[in-house]
Amino acid sequence: MLPSPTITRMEWAPLTGERPRLAGSNARLGVHGKNVTCPIARITTSDGAQGCGWSRISQEEAAQWIGQPVPEAVEDYPFALEYPLWDRAGKLAGKPVYALADETGPVSEDRPALAVPCYDTTLYFDDLHLADDAAAADLIAAEAGEGVGRGHRHFKIKVGRGGMHMPVEAGTRRDIAVIRAVRAEVGPGAKILIDANNGYNLNLTKQVLGATADADIYWMEEAFHEDPMLYANLREWMGREGLSVLIADGEGDASPRLLEWARSGLIDVVQYDVLRPGFTRWWTLGPQLDGWNVRSAPHAYGGVFGVYAAPHLAARVRGFTFAEIDPAKVDGLDGSAYTIRDGEIHVPALPGFGLGLDEAHFQRIVAEKGFIAA
Ligand SMILES: [Mg+2]
Repeated sequence: MLPSPTITRMEWAPLTGERPRLAGSNARLGVHGKNVTCPIARITTSDGAQGCGWSRISQEEAAQWIGQPVPEAVEDYPFALEYPLWDRAGKLAGKPVYALADETGPVSEDRPALAVPCYDTTLYFDDLHLADDAAAADLIAAEAGEGVGRGHRHFKIKVGRGGMHMPVEAGTRRDIAVIRAVRAEVGPGAKILIDANNGYNLNLTKQVLGATADADIYWMEEAFHEDPMLYANLREWMGREGLSVLIADGEGDASPRLLEWARSGLIDVVQYDVLRPGFTRWWTLGPQLDGWNVRSAPHAYGGVFGVYAAPHLAARVRGFTFAEIDPAKVDGLDGSAYTIRDGEIHVPALPGFGLGLDEAHFQRIVAEKGFIAA
């Protein structure tokens, strides 16, 4: 057997970019803004292969990887370098990352392209300057209309205005008005998701889901910090009310018991972030969730790269329900091969992650703000 190739060089640059529209507050944070960062590492290995992808690796850690062998199995890719290594594996195989999934997956040689249901995640609290609920609801509905123009059919609405930014009653009333207005704007075929970023409690959750029953909410995300007693109560109440809203949770600092609660049927959709704990974690977790009949919808807000990466998992994970789209253009990173049409993101059948890197720009940011380890 030939020895494994080793890592011979690493270049790292914190690329930056912008969202098309400023993102406002959510239930627990202030304005998210327009600016995004997308740190990219490119590795070169002793066989001449290269791969690039999101990485927050430090210069010290990068130096320690020089001369180290590339793990044979994708499951063994280290977190710090997983995206460059996945990209390299795809490029070496001449296949998109999604096609590295099990042969038994839904993607085959006769069906090389991958189209994955996705949702527009940009409907933040952009209305806090408005005194009038109707005007606020119109504003968010108009933003959903912009999403339709970008090819979206499904939308996630931030709720929980009464958690911090507005008085509880007024904020909850506005949440309800916004949900109704967005439903009216996007029509009955759209799936509407709501996300309280833990800004509700059980009673507020029931109040909002009850008041918006006719808006047919598809999932309720992070209603409150996950708790098995409260989720059991909510499910029992929804059953009595005839509501079938999915319970989604797990981004950020999730409870270590989250998977246990998902397995026992308290949580329908697991949303671990696609950058941390990452792609390789999802690669093994997704099929496990399939076995429990739990849905997968990796969180991908704010990291840019995850928007491109997460849909690849849909080839492997049967219960992959939605890709989250936080649109942003990153200088030097070309994601134009990915397109959004009719509520689906179309993943290009290009090797690796199918992203282009502007060499001159990348080298400039490496020199100005990044590093080279060799
Ligand atoms: Mg969320």
